[in-house]
Amino acid sequence: MRFGPLDRSEQYGACDDEMVKKIPMRQCTGCREMKEKRSLIRVVRSPEGDITLDSRGKSPGRGAYLCPDPVCLAKARKSRALERALDTAIPPEIYEALAARLQEGGVGDG
Ligand SMILES: [Zn+2]
Repeated sequence: MRFGPLDRSEQYGACDDEMVKKIPMRQCTGCREMKEKRSLIRVVRSPEGDITLDSRGKSPGRGAYLCPDPVCLAKARKSRALERALDTAIPPEIYEALAARLQEGGVGDG
């Protein structure tokens, strides 16, 4: 009996996509749409109960998110979505700070 050598060439399919990364998404309390976390404004309630705007998204505490859009801010304010999300009262100056934040990068409408 003869023994023929098997010549079998193997192919390696190398495809490593490192570009695909999971983007953290959060829900806007105004329009209720899921958006990129980094594109949203974060309002955070600190463990002490202080409400602040957290531009870096790293402050400790409970957070709520809002599009940088006056429409979303108006919706959130009207429906008290931020109050519910953070389970506390939102001081008027926070809404004013949010409005000011939105105007910084948006259209100035005196
Ligand atoms: Zn929104």
